[in-house]
Amino acid sequence: MIKLVFATGNSGKLREASEILGRGFELVTPAKVGIDEDIPETGNTLKANSLQKANYLFDKCGCDCFADDTGLEVDALGGAPGVHTARYASEDKDFNKNMDKLLHELAIKECEASLAASMGLKVKPVIRKARFRSVITLIYKGKTYFFEGSLDGRIARAKSGNGGFGYDPVFLADEFPGKTLADVTEEQKNAVSHRGKALRQMALWFETSENK
Ligand code: IMP
Repeated sequence: MIKLVFATGNSGKLREASEILGRGFELVTPAKVGIDEDIPETGNTLKANSLQKANYLFDKCGCDCFADDTGLEVDALGGAPGVHTARYASEDKDFNKNMDKLLHELAIKECEASLAASMGLKVKPVIRKARFRSVITLIYKGKTYFFEGSLDGRIARAKSGNGGFGYDPVFLADEFPGKTLADVTEEQKNAVSHRGKALRQMALWFETSENK
């Protein structure tokens, strides 16, 4: 059994990761090893944030651990919210406020485009194409490793579904036409998700003989 501290206080993420990694892993929260404070994430990239969180845990507890950082990149918004995904609308990381802001920003883009078109200007249509990207940093036996995964899709026009967490109700993955990630089962999401891909890469890394 491989025991790892996972740098998250989000029970949805912890459950997802435990399911994806399977029975060979025991995941514990930072609180379980006495780290109760918010772990800082002040980097300018997903990789920097993920590394910062894993290093913070390792410095505090010296244990095998990993952290992930995820960003939602929307083409029509020039890749925003990106590294600011968690705090897009406000510092309180409120999922609903974040999704409302995202839908609002895209609606503004579409209004501007149709206004310009009505004035006879040549405008490009607003593309709602987007992707989630996750970077995992694993610190195992004192060494650092990175794993990445992404999921392509589009931003819906309205929220739908009760499953998942975060931006799931507004994300239409290419794999599930017409359904948001909050409309599909956790199993279906995990099979294609950005974090699922990154976590499976990490599990595969552990399976290779020299890393056992
Ligand atoms: P973090 O890297 O876990 O801090 O994630 C940044 C933000 O991305 C979170 O606040 C979530 O709102 C969002 N997020 C991360 N993973 C997912 C996901 O699988 N679905 C929807 N939103 C997510």
